Amino acid sequence: MAHVVYGVWDGVVHDHRGLAPGAVAVLPGLQGFDEFDEGNHIRAFFGDRGFFVFDPDVHLIDALWRYMDKAAEQSCGKCTPCRMGTQLVSQALDAMRHGKPSPLSLDDIEALAEQMATTSLCGLGQTCANSLLAALHRHFPDYRRQFILGFSREKDWPQMLRQLTADGGDFLLTAAQSPRAVSPEAMQAELHALGMQSVTAPNVAMALQQALCDAGEHTLICVTGSLFLVGDTLKAMG
Ligand code: SF4
Repeated sequence: MAHVVYGVWDGVVHDHRGLAPGAVAVLPGLQGFDEFDEGNHIRAFFGDRGFFVFDPDVHLIDALWRYMDKAAEQSCGKCTPCRMGTQLVSQALDAMRHGKPSPLSLDDIEALAEQMATTSLCGLGQTCANSLLAALHRHFPDYRRQFILGFSREKDWPQMLRQLTADGGDFLLTAAQSPRAVSPEAMQAELHALGMQSVTAPNVAMALQQALCDAGEHTLICVTGSLFLVGDTLKAMG
């Protein structure tokens, strides 16, 4: 049976790197995961719900790059978050695994991955960054994440809101200058029903101002939800 070295699956962290020599960690659900085919051992597994590493010699960044590179190859190119996001993240991870300066910081990669997860049109773009996000949250947990969120009414915004807030963070809810924008109060009520705290701002400029006032040295501010919101953000930032 496959021995898990470490990983994150469905948000649950599995880390057995400190076990005594000879001790093994097995997960009953991973039966049949030893070999891909005869003599071809599975060293790591990456999927839409997270990842597992079975071989301690696996280089995590290299494995994440392989997964994202395959997603970039399979992207049909119909929507921008997936078409551009998979390429940009793949290039950044490729630079990192070769020890070269990355064109994107970890903050940039996380923000792009969040955008891909929430705004891509189909399951490929929506899930291909999940294991990357799980790894970032697990291995770089010191970041404080401040989300500025706003949605359009025609989308399944309660579902998007639930996905974006599942991993925690601080949430500032606002509305783009669009008649289709969901009101911040409606979003706040939805989060309140989930037992989560949030604050509201009447527009994007005020939300940005508040987020920047609250930000510390290790704060990542992520603006996401609708393209109208991103447009208003670019306008507010000049
Ligand atoms: S998310 Fe789906 S529709 Fe959009 S580019 Fe990727 S594969 Fe195509």
